[in-house]
Parts: sequence; C-alpha cells; structure tokens
Amino acid sequence: MPISTKERTELREELVGQGYSWNYIDEWQPKVTLYRHRDLKNPKGIVVSEAGTKIVGLPGNPDYVSRKARQGLLQWPPSDSCACRWCGGSKGAEKPESAKGKRFKKVGPYHRDS
Ligand SMILES: [Zn+2]
Repeated sequence: MPISTKERTELREELVGQGYSWNYIDEWQPKVTLYRHRDLKNPKGIVVSEAGTKIVGLPGNPDYVSRKARQGLLQWPPSDSCACRWCGGSKGAEKPESAKGKRFKKVGPYHRDS
C-alpha cells in the first residue's frame, strides 16, 4: 500500500523516536523478529507473556512495527537496564545502544556494565 510523502515523513520520525534507524522505512524486511519490552498481562493482571519474549515471523512493514513499538514490541532484545520507553528513552533519535547502562545508572555492588 503506497503512502504519501507526508505520511512517510511522519512515520519515519515516529520510528526514529521509537529507536529505529533513519533508514528503516527504506530497508525494512518482510519478516521480522520482535522482542517484548514489557510484560503482557491479561485483564486479570496475570502475566501471559514476559518482557524479553521473542516473537518471530511478524511483518516488517514500517507502520506495523511502529504500532507494535507503542505496545512495547521492538526489534532488539531488552537490555539489562531496560526500564523501557523504549531502552533509548524519550530522547528520540539516539541509538539505543548508546543509552545502555548510562541512563539507568544504579549504585550497588551487584550492578555492573557488561
Ligand atoms: Zn526496552
């Protein structure tokens, strides 16, 4: 389904804000693997699918992955320090990797950057 240049620009900006690369909209794959970045709970509040769950074979359409990103499903596994929104935080265009271990600094003997 073709989309207008304006829609494309908006979608690109949204994807970048969600941590995807600038080129995603040009280079997307028909099938992708998404990782859950927050627990999926049923209406009773019971976790039915944990954060970190890998889901393979989903469509890679930019509009689809953008919609899924809003539900906490992204193409990279949650980091150790993932507290999501969404690993890259609300800073927008920065690479998610650069945020790892920096935004969620914790003090304590058990916390190490790995
Ligand atoms: Zn995350």
